[in-house]
Amino acid sequence: MRMIFIGPPGAGKGTQAARLVQRYGIPHISTGDMFRAAIKGGTPMGLAAKTVMDGGGLVGDDIVIGMVKERLEQDDAKGGFLLDGFPRTVVQAQALQELLADKGQALDAVALLEVPEELIVERIIHRRSDPSTGAIYHLKFNPPPAEIAERLVHRKDDTEVACRTRLGAYREQTAPLVPFYEDLGLLKRVDGVGSPDQITERLTSVLG
Ligand code: AMP
Repeated sequence: MRMIFIGPPGAGKGTQAARLVQRYGIPHISTGDMFRAAIKGGTPMGLAAKTVMDGGGLVGDDIVIGMVKERLEQDDAKGGFLLDGFPRTVVQAQALQELLADKGQALDAVALLEVPEELIVERIIHRRSDPSTGAIYHLKFNPPPAEIAERLVHRKDDTEVACRTRLGAYREQTAPLVPFYEDLGLLKRVDGVGSPDQITERLTSVLG
């Protein structure tokens, strides 16, 4: 299964991707996680990406495409993958089509998680993640256990200002992927409002 998740920031892509990769036995490839690892490791790519990311903007297409190309060469991605957060621009989507065509491969599905903007800000500013397990919590709707509260991380780009910039980037640069994948007959729209379990059920029913 070669699959992509698209949707605005805070739509639940990371949470749902972590669940689906277990079911399908494919690697979860999150470009946001790869950049955060590069920043933590202090690599030149991490340093270059940090300021843009913290402000809520998009990292340059060439950097992201090069990083994904390298990742898809790895053995675990040969039989399939779930891309989360990539592509985010039409240029990236076209590059991915070419990359896969060169390998004689094609995408099986593109899931679009739809969540209204007014819900997104509320979801994002209360989002916290556990660096030890990767688990994602919401301070009101899915509160973390008290004993791990101290190690939780609030992403720098999960502030209200950065969140609004990210929504603007989504509207202008990522939303055009919807007609792009619709024209290719790959797009599956999934309502992203509900409990994580409900949304997993909707996804698995459209993905098969
Ligand atoms: P995410 O964890 O997917 O929300 O990504 C966090 C941030 O990483 C984004 O706001 C961008 O700054 C950067 N990023 C992740 N994936 C991409 C991409 N495909 N293209 C450009 N920037 C990206």
